[in-house]
Amino acid sequence: MKTAVYPGTFDPITYGHIDIIERARDIFDKVIVMVAQNPEKQPLFTDTERVTMIKKVVSKYRNVEVDSYDGLLVEFAKRKKATAIVRGLRAVSDFEYEFQMALMNRKLEANITTVFLMPHEKYTYLNSSLVREISRLGGDVSEFVPPIVRQLLSKKLKSLRK
Ligand code: ADP
Repeated sequence: MKTAVYPGTFDPITYGHIDIIERARDIFDKVIVMVAQNPEKQPLFTDTERVTMIKKVVSKYRNVEVDSYDGLLVEFAKRKKATAIVRGLRAVSDFEYEFQMALMNRKLEANITTVFLMPHEKYTYLNSSLVREISRLGGDVSEFVPPIVRQLLSKKLKSLRK
C-alpha cells in the first residue's frame, strides 16, 4: 500500500489543490491531505475549519483522508507510514523554495521522497491568497474554488466585518 502526504496551508483549498489531489490519488493507494498549522501565516480559517472544509470537498474520493498537524512533516509522514510527500509546482517561482524543502526533508528522513505534480495550466496562476483577496473585495471566485468553499469564504469575511 503506497501512501502519500499532501501538505499545505489550504487557506482555502482551491481547484489547483484539488487538481493535484486528483493526480496524486491516481498514482498512490492513499493520499492524506495534511493541513499545516502554521501560526506564522495567520490563516483566515482555523485549522479545524480548513480540515472540515477539505473533508467536504474530497468526500467523493474513497482514497483521500484529511488531517492536521503542528509538527514536522516527516514525522507525520512516518507516523502515517507514508513513503512520499506530494507538492504542486505551478511555475519556476515555486521551484527554489520547493527544492530546498524537498532536500531538507530528505536529509531529515531519507526514506521519504518528495514528488512534484504539475496542475492543469489553467491553474498555474491560482493561489489561495489571491482567492482571499478577490473574495474580500467582492469579486467572483466561483472559477477558482468549489461552491462550498465560496460560501464559507463569504460567511467568514462577513463575520470579520462585524
Ligand atoms: P503554501 O505551501 O505556500 O502554504 P499551499 O499550502 O496553499 O501554499 O499549497 C500547498 C501545495 O499546493 C504546494 O505544493 C503548492 O505549490 C500547491 N499549490 C497551491 N496552489 C496550487 C495550484 N493552483 N496548482 C497546483 N498546485 C498548487
